[in-house]
Amino acid sequence: MSYVDEVLESVIAKNPAEPEFHQAVREVLESIRPVIEKNEDAFRKDALLERITNPERQIKFRVPWVDDKGNVQVNTGYRVQFNSAIGPYKGGLRLHPSVNLGIIKFLGFEQIFKNSLTGLPIGGGKGGSDFDPKGKSDREVMAFCQSFMTELCKYIGADTDVPAGDIGTGAREIGYMFGQYKRLRGVFEGVLTGKGLSYGGSLARTEATGYGLLYITEELLKSKGDSLNGKTVVVSGAGNVAIYAIQKAQQLGAKVVTCSDSTGWVYDPDGIDVAALKEIKEVKRARLTEYKSYRPNSEYHEGKGVWTVKADIALPCATQNELGIDDAKALVANGVKAVCEGANMPTTEEATKFFQDNGVFFIPGKAANAGGVATSALEMSQNSERLSWTFDEVDAKLKGIMVNLFHNIDDAAKRYGFEGNYVVGANIAGFEKVLDAMNAQGIV
Ligand code: NDP
Repeated sequence: MSYVDEVLESVIAKNPAEPEFHQAVREVLESIRPVIEKNEDAFRKDALLERITNPERQIKFRVPWVDDKGNVQVNTGYRVQFNSAIGPYKGGLRLHPSVNLGIIKFLGFEQIFKNSLTGLPIGGGKGGSDFDPKGKSDREVMAFCQSFMTELCKYIGADTDVPAGDIGTGAREIGYMFGQYKRLRGVFEGVLTGKGLSYGGSLARTEATGYGLLYITEELLKSKGDSLNGKTVVVSGAGNVAIYAIQKAQQLGAKVVTCSDSTGWVYDPDGIDVAALKEIKEVKRARLTEYKSYRPNSEYHEGKGVWTVKADIALPCATQNELGIDDAKALVANGVKAVCEGANMPTTEEATKFFQDNGVFFIPGKAANAGGVATSALEMSQNSERLSWTFDEVDAKLKGIMVNLFHNIDDAAKRYGFEGNYVVGANIAGFEKVLDAMNAQGIV
């Protein structure tokens, strides 16, 4: 059996009931197979793949807090510190009822390669909890965040592990967590990113993942002699990534006609009104059912349906495995040209293959949404310098990073004979740097 297959088998056996983690490992190991097989004996001898698929450390803890009725609630907190070969662990904190160890491990594993692709010195980690901020009062969210940080603060720090936002963790949650960290540890340091601008946050961090997604999409189209101008785009999600993806797509001349949340989706033939969307989601924290009162010409539908709308470009920006094979078939039948992932692993393996087999350009999340973590690393740099850069400075750096990233994954795919396969390109380009650093640092 080949070394890659041996390790895949053992990852599945040793990490039972973690299907998302298996999926993420399988995708990476299948992509880097050509690199491994060139030098299989040496990789096996060093147990390189066993080391890279085992987190350096995983922390699981109890998070008790008191709700508004005076009842004690108990959630589970996680931090997986996956790989620190190229820098301190870096990756978001997800607060969602679906969170479990397997989800956090899949996200942490992906994060290693994503962070490497940014070209910045950040290792891979991820964390979160099965706490659901939806429907909770501000006081309840604060109680949870303070309890969560009371335990997490023992394991993180500006030079060791720097968490950030993710699903369910926005500016409010980061603020409460930062306050508790500072209180417990007695230091004001850049231990979290995605902070408010008044206490060390970076301009353009809020916009970064969505903007970065559009910068890489534009560069992809440019490499094919095309552009976003005049294109119809479908977006899923209505959170941080989706909102700023829609905004930048519109600035680049595209028309975005959909968005969604976990209960339904909106079709707006005139193009999504970003100001209305921001008010509904960022200010009122309400459901998308409200969108129609701002835009009477739009349609609201319960359930899923974004991928049935005819479009040139599809940008999944909600959550993992939200775009399956039937969705891919509908998009291809409607003539989609490119799919770029704003969310982490939103496309199933089968759907990804279908796109690739049908000539659709496909950029995986670890490359396409890397603008978020890249700008988090820029926030860390500003915190270390005790300086703040202007919006335009940060945005220009972000754009440069995404343009370079596209060419790096494009080149890596070409070097191994997989021209146009950006999944292989991203995994190989991300892996090469981590591999080099791991080799240099010996068996640790
Ligand atoms: P938000 O919490 O701001 O928004 C998530 C959006 O997706 C919401 O509209 C939410 O709807 C929807 N959603 C979440 N879970 C589900 C589900 N199970 N089914 C259907 N819809 C769902 O998160 P972000 O925008 O920050 O993150 C979106 C994705 O992008 C995630 O995969 C995240 O890991 C990834 N990402 C985020 C980065 C960032 O900087 N924020 C960086 C890189 C990747 P509802 O409100 O109804 O729950």
